[in-house]
Amino acid sequence: MATESLNVKELYEKWILDAKTKLTEEDLVPRVKEYLIGQHPEICGKCAPCRDGVIKLEQLLDQYIEGTATIKTLKEIERLTYNLRASRCSVGLDIGKNMEVILENDYHVLYKPVKKY
Ligand code: SF4
Repeated sequence: MATESLNVKELYEKWILDAKTKLTEEDLVPRVKEYLIGQHPEICGKCAPCRDGVIKLEQLLDQYIEGTATIKTLKEIERLTYNLRASRCSVGLDIGKNMEVILENDYHVLYKPVKKY
């Protein structure tokens, strides 16, 4: 299966099994956003880390797409991802785990456009 045809959720499994499987740099932000939007039907709204955090993560990813992201954008993505550990059920916990895998594997892709030197 070509890398382009994998969604982020599948990549989570792939990354665990095969550290060499990664999204391309150009694909990363839009594909992660697509993944988050795809989780909306699962989100019940009972807890803030998932209900509010996922929407905020999407808005922060938009800043990358629009070219307005700063180092604060990246720090906020990290904070919201960590907050997802406090989710009340596996929906938010899984989103958080996938986001952590993305940050772990592709931090440089998110860091490159916002670094100051
Ligand atoms: S983590 Fe679970 S309980 Fe919390 S908003 Fe998401 S789906 Fe609802």
